Formats: sequence, structure tokens, C-alpha cells
Amino acid sequence: MTRINPEGTIGILGGGQLGRMIALAAAKFGYRIHIYCPDTHSPAFHVADQVTVAAYDDEEALMAFAQSVDVVTYEFENIPAATAKIIEAIKPLRPGRKALEISQDRLSEKEFLNKAGATTAPYQAFDTREELEAAFAVIGRPAVAKTRRFGYDGKGQVMVKSKRDFDAVMDITKGGPAILEGFVTFDREISVIVARSVSADVAAFPVAENVHTNHVLDVTTVPANINEMIEAKAKVLATRIANELEYIGVLAVEMFVNDAKGEITVNEIAPRVHNSGHWTIEGAQTSQFEQHIRAICDLPLGPTSARGKVVMKNLLGKDILDFEKYLSDPTAAYHHYGKHDPRDGRKMGHVTWVTED
Ligand code: AMP
Repeated sequence: MTRINPEGTIGILGGGQLGRMIALAAAKFGYRIHIYCPDTHSPAFHVADQVTVAAYDDEEALMAFAQSVDVVTYEFENIPAATAKIIEAIKPLRPGRKALEISQDRLSEKEFLNKAGATTAPYQAFDTREELEAAFAVIGRPAVAKTRRFGYDGKGQVMVKSKRDFDAVMDITKGGPAILEGFVTFDREISVIVARSVSADVAAFPVAENVHTNHVLDVTTVPANINEMIEAKAKVLATRIANELEYIGVLAVEMFVNDAKGEITVNEIAPRVHNSGHWTIEGAQTSQFEQHIRAICDLPLGPTSARGKVVMKNLLGKDILDFEKYLSDPTAAYHHYGKHDPRDGRKMGHVTWVTED
């Protein structure tokens, strides 16, 4: 049985805002939700039918969780391989392990992307300082050093302009698996949110343009300020990547665009719903969260056109407290993730504006 009908139960690994918004979309179609997360204060718990608070290596809890649901999905890509294996042996895990394993390691991700016909930044893997020196000789300056695993929002990254930066690199990588990338000159950053269903239907949303501040997504705008050729090329690339991964669910592909050269460089992929797709909740005919549910439950995919010009802004830290301003604006849609502590830089919510022009 590949199809999960409404009233079935969807299990989600991870209880953050992405899990919360997947749960809300699932509820619209009458699904029940079971969230698995080690953190007692998970935002997704507020909107779930059932919760399990347990570690990701708790075999017994994982098995009981898998047995209680019809399908398992996840809201973050650092699911340990052993966890994925335990789940897979009991219930379908969508997206599957291939996408998880490839996207968890920047080296395997780059190798996969190049094999799939995408262009990435030039790269060299390194562990030791000697290997870093050899890699820098090949890549040239400026370069960006990144840990291969567990990097997010610019964490685990250092710019390398000269050998003087090697100490800072080794401080971060600590001799563990790392990658040195050539610095890509680009005019804008874009992302494509694409869905592929159990039945291998594929649908991409309009390309979004993203502005980061302090390495964290700040604003997403749709349509992106790119020409039709780049728009089409970006969607074709994302579709090819989803097909090559035999992917099931919503996938995000982040890219750099060089306007003058008409070139796209793929930065990274995220095997999940994505912050740069939040605009779809009000701004597209189908939201990325609903599309994810449709894809993993083997339902028909929804239409993806934008409903107008859309801007999404993340609300970090105390920005979340400005709700009165957003609620009095008829073009704004305010989202609060239900987190208590508005620490500086923490993703607390977002606002989306949809207008005709
Ligand atoms: P990442 O964690 O790989 O998504 O990188 C975070 C941000 O750093 C990206 O969104 C880019 O703005 C910038 N960045 C990362 N890698 C490169 C690169 N090779 N060349 C230029 N900018 C980069």
C-alpha cells in the first residue's frame, strides 16, 4: 500500500516549526499526526495528536513510534542513519534514506550534484592542515572552508583569503572531515522548492529569491528577479535532482545566479520543506507543507502558481512581538511558531505579504 488516505497517521521526526507547519497542513486533510522529538518544549507538540519525547537513538521508542503511524517523514536532515534504518524496517520513510545520506555530507552532496549534471563550486575535501594547504593550492583564493556535516545557517564556515586564515579553519574543523570550496561570484541567491510524489509526478514552485542577513534567511521574494531562461533552467535542474534521488516529498535546492553569464551554481539541497518556501502558504495555490503531505501520501500534487507578488520576512528574536503592526496590515499574514523564549537571532515566526503588483 503506497497511498495513505485521509484519517491515516503521519509520523514526523523533529518537533520544530517545520514539523508544526507540516502537521497543520496534514490536519486540513484529516490526517492524524504523531511527532517524535527529544525536546519536551517542541513547537510542533502544540498541534499534534500524539507525541513521543525520546532520543533519536532510542530503539524501543522509535519502533513503537513507527508501529503507531502509516508513514514517517522528517523536518530536518540530520536524522542518524541508524534511526532511518529502524524506521524503514517497519514503515515507509519518505523521503528515503538515499536523499538523507547524500545531503548530510557536503562531499557526497557535491559529488552527486555534479554527476546529476549540475554545476557546483569547485571543491576539495580535507581533514588535516597539510591537506588544507594542498586544497588551497588547487582551489585558489578566495575560498570557503566548511565542515562536511552538521553545518547550518553559516555555522561551521570560514572564509579563506590567505594561509593566515588556516588557524581559524582548523579551530572550526578540528581535523574532522571538511571541504574547501571556491568562492562563487554571484548576483543573487535563489531556491527552487520542488515536490515529487510516490507516483513520480513532479511539480516545482515558482523560483524564489532569498536575501540572507548574518547567514540567516531574512527575506524571500517571488517572483525572483531573473529572466525566463534562468527560471526555466533552475526548475529543470531541481526536477532532475529530485528524479535522480528517486525522491518522495518536498525538496529545496539552493542556487547562486550570475546574471551576466546566465549561470546557475547549485549550493546545496535540503531534503525537506524549507524556510524559503514559507511564502507558499498564502502566496501559492498549494502550500509547500500541503504539497509535502500530498507527495508522501501518494495523493495528486497540487497546482503551484503564485497568487501574486509575494514577500516573506522571517521574524527573529523580539521581532515576533510586533504582531499588532502585522495584524493591522490587510496584506500581511502573521505566523507565530509558539516558541516561548525570543532569544536574539532565533526563528520565532514569519510574515508574508501577497499583493497584486
Ligand atoms: P551554506 O551553509 O552552504 O548554505 O552557506 C551559507 C551562505 O554562505 C550561502 O547562502 C552563501 O550566501 C554563502 N556561501 C556559501 N558557500 C559559498 C561559496 N562557495 N561561494 C560564495 N558564497 C558562498
